[in-house]
Amino acid sequence: GRAAVLARIDELVRLVPDYPQPGVLFRDITPLLADGEAFAAVIDQLAASVGGPVDLVAGMEARGFLLAAPLAVALGAGVIPVRKAGKLPGPTVVEHYQLEYGEASVEVHPFTVPEGSRVLVVDDVLATGGTAAATVRLIESCGAHVVGLSFLVELDGLAGRQQLGEHPIDVLVHVP
Ligand code: AMP
Repeated sequence: GRAAVLARIDELVRLVPDYPQPGVLFRDITPLLADGEAFAAVIDQLAASVGGPVDLVAGMEARGFLLAAPLAVALGAGVIPVRKAGKLPGPTVVEHYQLEYGEASVEVHPFTVPEGSRVLVVDDVLATGGTAAATVRLIESCGAHVVGLSFLVELDGLAGRQQLGEHPIDVLVHVP
């Protein structure tokens, strides 16, 4: 059940202080990905929480890819890699967003995101919400609908969900 899956996430997500920079407590999902049974249970749990039909699962580079692909297969949907600047051959649509220092951008191939399609956005960690909010704008700029967002972990203290409007958000584990 859900409680057992959440307990496995607690055990298998490694906490790394001061990575990639001082003051950040990094949540490393590689031990969870490496445990076949726990990984499958996490994907099943994410799939079970999806409220309605999904045509495409959008995963954010790079850890989001690893969740989006099996989740898409479980849902009978396709997958869209949401990539950092300059990685797709194009033509692309782009959304820019602010980081603490500087700017970043996300891109997709719009010809893989049909107008009116129903898209679920997936990533490992919801932190400030900047990446997820830019991804929502990107999908919507293609004329598609974001039907929800799913994360393994939400860092509640950063209030990232305030950037995500009214879209349904599924989170397996909340941390302060
Ligand atoms: P944000 O745009 O601030 O919500 O950051 C989200 C992106 O950064 C996601 O792709 C996460 O994988 C990554 N991220 C941010 N903070 C952490 C953290 N503490 N541990 C692991 N990944 C993080």
